[in-house]
This record gives sequence, structure tokens and C-alpha cells, in this order.
Amino acid sequence: MSKADYYEVLGVSRDATDQELKSAYRKQALKFHPDRNPGDHAAEEKFKQASEAYQVLSDADKRAAYDRYGHAGLGGQGFGAGPFGGGIDIGDIFGDLFGEMFNMGGASQRASRQQRGDDLRFDLTIDFEDAIFGTETEVKLRRLETCATCQGRGTASGQGPTTCSQCHGRGQIRYQQGFFSVARTCGACGGAGSVITDPCQTCRGETRVSKEIKLNVKVPPGVEDGTRIRYSAEGDSGRFGGAKGDLYVVLSVRSHDFFERDGYNLRCVVPISFPQAALGAEIEIPGIDGPVSLKIPEGTQSGKEFRIRGRGVPFLNEKGTGDLLVRVVVQIPRKLSRAQRDLVAQLAESITVENKPTSPSLLEKMKDLFS
Ligand SMILES: [Zn+2]
Ligand SMILES: [Zn+2]
Repeated sequence: MSKADYYEVLGVSRDATDQELKSAYRKQALKFHPDRNPGDHAAEEKFKQASEAYQVLSDADKRAAYDRYGHAGLGGQGFGAGPFGGGIDIGDIFGDLFGEMFNMGGASQRASRQQRGDDLRFDLTIDFEDAIFGTETEVKLRRLETCATCQGRGTASGQGPTTCSQCHGRGQIRYQQGFFSVARTCGACGGAGSVITDPCQTCRGETRVSKEIKLNVKVPPGVEDGTRIRYSAEGDSGRFGGAKGDLYVVLSVRSHDFFERDGYNLRCVVPISFPQAALGAEIEIPGIDGPVSLKIPEGTQSGKEFRIRGRGVPFLNEKGTGDLLVRVVVQIPRKLSRAQRDLVAQLAESITVENKPTSPSLLEKMKDLFS
């Protein structure tokens, strides 16, 4: 197998400056570092390749030899093959960042036993009107609460967990990988640095138990389908003193027989008769909050929309209310009595419409004109 080109490995051009090399290597090393990719051999291989490429290209003499003769020019001076005199100083390249991210200093990197509780989701279905006017309801849900027997310590004795004998409390086991020291999470304690040898009988060391609780949910006016209400610290309890998670009540709103929501506006369609449209009328329709009277002017066209201000949905957490939008549709009778038929026939003699085609988009515009 031929070796990969060092410049390609780092993703830089052949005339890359030292600074460019450094930053390219830094990027690759951070991405493929074994601590970040545990068990990923492909990543480990890439990490080694990048390190090797940088070791060569950052050394002016080696780089010159490589540029001239390729890999052969390096005379088989392997990278992993032993001490690299005058090679790279990892600390120099990564500085504080590396130290911080991977704890190169060797200080323990123990995972805290403390764990925040999970956020919970509760789906609540409410009526259309309740979304508009608000409501209050009691819900039952299960969540993890701190175990009362062990007070959340997880042990039967009441003492806290004991130091892990495998990692001596560090939570990590270090081993040598080439010239790198790599840390692996301690399997015995899961990285916590401590173990529970006498688990609490009630929670089996989990520190929490599942409990059904009742919660009063207050739905404010103006919510809509999909609105989330957050209840801080009403989710699962944390472990070993960790913070409580939050509870999200996600609302789904039942549909209404004839109203539809359009943001804070309500929409409905109301049929009117031809005489009402032609002569005008005052009609009463049921609004969401009581009867609404609507004045239909003489000569109203079918499809005209009327806006009744302030009879829609109250703004959520704000002053003000949306509007009620009523679209009237002129209903043509499907069946007429003989007497009605005669009357319409009489009307037909005096009312004529020129049956001249109009483009659909122009008709839409005319509708706007009429409304
Ligand atoms: Zn351990
Ligand atoms: Zn317990």
C-alpha cells in the first residue's frame, strides 16, 4: 500500500505556510483524536496520519526532502518508530485548548455522578373554546422523584458511593498509544470514579423512583394547536443532587364545527339568500363569545368577507383581540316551488347579465373591488 501524500492528508497546498500547516493539523487532530472517537479505528488511523504528516512538514529539512523525493526522501524514518528528536511539541501546538479538551495534563477527568433530570413532555388535548378563553385542568403524569428511602444517595447504608478501586476515583484509565497518552472511561464505575456496593433496596441505587403525580395545568387564553407550556423543574428529578428537568405541556386543540383559526383571527362562512344579498339585510350569527350582528349592504356579492373587529381570539400574553372574518356565500335554491319559479322568471325579464367571459384572475381582482 502506498502512503498517502502528506499535503493531502492535511488538506493544504504544497506551498502552505507554517501557520497554515499548524492550523490544518490542529483541525484534523482535534477532529480525529482518539479521546473524541473512542473505538473508532478509522479515526485513529487518520489521527496518526495527520500527526505524521505534520511532523514531517513542520520540519524544514524533512519537508524539503519530502518535496524533492517524496516518502522515499525520508529514508524510512518512521513516525511511530521511536523517539522523534526535534519533533513536534504537542503542547506547543494545542496549548491551552488541547489541555482543556483532552486533559493532557493528566489530571483526572471524572464524570460527575450528578445528573440533571430529564425534561418531560405531556400531551394535552383541549377544546377549541378553551384555547381561546383559557382553562385550568388537573393532569396526572409519571415522573422520577428522588428516592425517599436513601434520600437520593443510592446506598442502603445511607453513605455515599465508595471510591472505585479500578481507577482509584479518577474515572479514567490511561494507556499509551504511540507517543500519546490516551484516556479511556473506566468500565468499572462508568467514569464516575465511585461505585455503589450496597444499593438501596427501594431504588436499586438509581436514587430515584417513578411516581404518579397530579399537576394543575393553567392554559392561558390565546394558545393554539402545538403551543408548549413550560413548567420549570416539574420534570424528572436529578440524580445525586442534580437539578430537576422541566415539564413541557404540549397542547393540541380540537377543531370547531364552523370556526377556524387563522392566527388570532377566526374565520367562518355564512350562507345568505339572493334577496338578502341584493336588497341588504341585518343578520345575526353565533360568535365564539356570543351573538354577532352583521349588516349586509345592498348589492353584496357572493364571497365577500366581512371583518368584525375584536371578536376573534385574545392575544396570548398581550392586550388585544383578533377579528372575526365572516365570508358570505349567496345560496341559490336547488328547488323552487311553482310560485317561486314564476317570480324568478319575472325577475329574469328585468335583470340581465352580459355573459361575457372574464379571466379568472380578473374576477379575483373584481371580488376585491366589491368587498
Ligand atoms: Zn472506576
Ligand atoms: Zn433509594
